[in-house]
Amino acid sequence: MGNQYYVDEIMGHVLARNPGESEFHQAVREVVESVQAVIEKNPAFARAKILERMVEPERQIMFRVPWVDDRGEVQVNRGFRVEFSSAIGPYKGGLRFHPSVYLGIIKFLGFEQIFKNALTTTPIGGGKGGSDFDPKGKSDNEVMRFCQSFMSELFRHIGPDTDVPAGDIGVGGREIGFLFGQYKRLTNTFTGVLTGKGLEWGGSLVRTEATGYGLVYFVTRMLQDRGTDWKGKKVVISGSGNVAIYATQKAQELGARVIAMSDSNGYIVDEEGIKLDTVKRIKEVERGRIREYVDEHRSAQYTEGWKGIWSVPCDIALPSATQNEIDAEAAEQLVKSKCIAVGEGANMPSTPEAIEIFLERGVAFGPAKAANAGGVATSALEMCQNSMRLNWTFDEVDRRLKQIMDAVYDQCTGAAEAYGAKDNLVVGANIAGFLKVARAMMAQGVV
Ligand code: NDP
Repeated sequence: MGNQYYVDEIMGHVLARNPGESEFHQAVREVVESVQAVIEKNPAFARAKILERMVEPERQIMFRVPWVDDRGEVQVNRGFRVEFSSAIGPYKGGLRFHPSVYLGIIKFLGFEQIFKNALTTTPIGGGKGGSDFDPKGKSDNEVMRFCQSFMSELFRHIGPDTDVPAGDIGVGGREIGFLFGQYKRLTNTFTGVLTGKGLEWGGSLVRTEATGYGLVYFVTRMLQDRGTDWKGKKVVISGSGNVAIYATQKAQELGARVIAMSDSNGYIVDEEGIKLDTVKRIKEVERGRIREYVDEHRSAQYTEGWKGIWSVPCDIALPSATQNEIDAEAAEQLVKSKCIAVGEGANMPSTPEAIEIFLERGVAFGPAKAANAGGVATSALEMCQNSMRLNWTFDEVDRRLKQIMDAVYDQCTGAAEAYGAKDNLVVGANIAGFLKVARAMMAQGVV
């Protein structure tokens, strides 16, 4: 079985069966290319059609979400939940509410989630869901009515031992609260069916901070391997949502100077260092726009257009907004400005061409599956606390998160080295995640 033949054959099937889902094709291709050496070494995986089964979700649910807006007008959105793999635990993955959501986005996210979750060392399978609903500009009551309608269908497919959703773009504490309330009402059970809950009703300390903190812990290991750390480094972080905010906080704590952040309209540069309290107030409390930051800080400038952020010279880049935000041109700009490390906070923020540039030009590159696994890992810790009906302290959860990010890093570097791709954490993450899931699938028979 020739390498390229195998990749082409699998991709041929994936393209034919999932037309028009370009993000899903992109995510699958990367994994298939990474694991072909593993399949060659283990012909039993090929005979059992492990990869062919992995690319086909166990279950895909699409549903109508009707709701009434504040003007009394009926709105119709589309809801999704793709339950991709339960090989190593209940389906687990966030819900995204964003107008760009369609089946292909949810499938790319769900597919990546299988391998990410396997890397966390916790027993969780892979899934993802969401809707093309746009929470931006909606009142709290509209968001509540939407969430209640969404859950009125979703509740029959999820459960604390079946499928445990969480947040993602457009789904934060407010949305999880409304979703949880409706689930509880419909099922008459108070269980850990969602993660990212409020601290008074089953949430875990550190879950809010986890993805950003975990990202910084992961990049710390990348920097250590290059004999350096965060102190005095200039950092650019795209986005200004959950991941970006807490990555900024931890990077600043470790002595870095975060100089730029963005939203989908544009980006700010503050060479004196971003004042995070201002960003947190604008984004978390007022739900405003990042441009408002410059009204309060004379040292900062705002530029329209989100893409320009990658032209800001930096030592470390942490893309934490959305998929495919760093293309080849942006990658070239980062290399030119002598950026030494890129850690992906968002899911699939770098295009394949951009990744190739980073790897070829010696930029340390931490792929999303590994680098942003801290969020879902802490969700698994939330599930654990819910099952035990107790709460760990902030320090306890943070210690476990750090330990998990170390384990994720070690698995990636270990697998990369074992398969002759030293320093290539993309290949390392894909292989380590794949092996764990593949072995479980082999043990469980053709299901
Ligand atoms: P939030 O909704 O909290 O924030 C998203 C941020 O990214 C906002 O600043 C948003 O700007 C910006 N953004 C969104 N879409 C675009 C776009 N098309 N172009 C430019 N900017 C955009 O989401 P999160 O911080 O939770 O998620 C960010 C990324 O991290 C996503 O890729 C998500 O999948 C990933 N992730 C999140 C985890 C979590 O625990 N939350 C876990 C692992 C990964 P605006 O306000 O203008 O929309």
